[in-house]
Amino acid sequence: MDKLISLCKRRGFIFPGSEIYGGFANSWDYGPLGVELKNNIKKEWWRRFVGLRGDVLGIDTALVMNPKVWEASGHISNFSDPLVECKKCHSRFRADHVEGSVCPNCGGELAAPKQFNMMLKTFIGPAEETANVAYFRPETAQGMFVNFKNVLDTSRKRLPFGIAQIGKSFRNEITPGNFIFRTREFEQMEIEYFIKESEWEMHFENWLSEMKKWLKDLGVKEGNYVVHDISAEERAHYSKRTVDIEYRYPFGQKELYGLAYRGDFDLKNHMEKSGEDLRYTDPETNERFLPHVIEPTWGVERSLLVALLEAYHEEKIKNKKSKIKNEESDSDEDDTRVVIRFPKWLAPYKVAVLPLSKKEELSSVAEKITTDLRKHFAVDYDETQSIGKRYRRQDEIGTPYCVTVDFDSLNDQAVTVRDRDTMKQERVAIKGLAEYIQGCLAVV
Ligand code: ATP
Repeated sequence: MDKLISLCKRRGFIFPGSEIYGGFANSWDYGPLGVELKNNIKKEWWRRFVGLRGDVLGIDTALVMNPKVWEASGHISNFSDPLVECKKCHSRFRADHVEGSVCPNCGGELAAPKQFNMMLKTFIGPAEETANVAYFRPETAQGMFVNFKNVLDTSRKRLPFGIAQIGKSFRNEITPGNFIFRTREFEQMEIEYFIKESEWEMHFENWLSEMKKWLKDLGVKEGNYVVHDISAEERAHYSKRTVDIEYRYPFGQKELYGLAYRGDFDLKNHMEKSGEDLRYTDPETNERFLPHVIEPTWGVERSLLVALLEAYHEEKIKNKKSKIKNEESDSDEDDTRVVIRFPKWLAPYKVAVLPLSKKEELSSVAEKITTDLRKHFAVDYDETQSIGKRYRRQDEIGTPYCVTVDFDSLNDQAVTVRDRDTMKQERVAIKGLAEYIQGCLAVV
């Protein structure tokens, strides 16, 4: 984990938040490569679950909503974790994270648990008065429930159909930490899938298999996660089935994603508290009823964290110094290669263009190739240091292909394309380069 955190900082994936002011505990900023990763995750999720399906529609709702929403949803009264505080060192822990009444920090005695509401409070308007209290949303889900009628009326969808949203959520977590695993602001990708009650089991299974497919495509090996069925005692009273998809992180097995059958709990509450009729009319039978809901939820940062953990590899390389240009190493010594084997769709850069020398005659060709390739993919350009070092730099950020422009390129109008995973090199004509790389990227 430490190696990964330091690589993330060194290569511009993730920086400690507000660093020049000494940081801000458990806040993280995403650098040039981190933001590309996050965007790739969100884009692929949206393409897969909204773009390619006719039955899920997207939405983007406010971060700060009418506080009545959170009263209706039960968050103001119930969205809390039991907290225990050490009487000696005053460290705070989530009661379900510690065993017994001994402080894991100093061995002191823990006080009785207190409920701690996790809603992040703010004030709307100039006066900080009770009347002006509002909350940053702790989940994206309620934005979808309160717009159920709007989406239904404007899209004229029939059941089953879903509403999807990607966006930030805020929780005043008691125990943030483990790098980006638990933070006070994070992004969720969520779907509320509205169904007929009689069909819930079938839809639940479908979404579970969609989530497993997503994990596979994110590069997560099957043995590294567990589908944990939450017992009747532990799950919410309105849910007939909830599963947590738990990942075996270096710091323990913990939640990655969730999938819940929520019945008609949310729409029923909002209908009661708002006075708006949120029922659906079946066009065939004219029956009016509240749809039930299956809710799959993905965290963006936890997706990114597991993608990094799965893709990070260290390999011993046997080097043989040779006179061949484009060589992997410029010495005879064996070295360790750090390579991030991201799935190709996820890699922040798909290609890096590397002129063998900084000489104008090569860099002008390389720059032109870069400009052309940028019309198709995210491309990095690097002309500093030896070619071996530059390959390593690209391996370390997961770039699937390096294109080396050498002096022969000036005569044969071709370049060397080097594969991140096999390190094999191939000579490819500049003319068909974009199509060639497109073809390679399409192969999973
Ligand atoms: P946990 O048990 O880890 O606190 P939760 O059960 O409260 O999680 P949900 O309310 O189900 O989480 O939130 C849905 C998803 O949002 C989670 O599966 C996770 O991917 C993500 N998530 C929740 N809380 C955080 C957080 N504090 N930081 C980062 N991601 C989070």
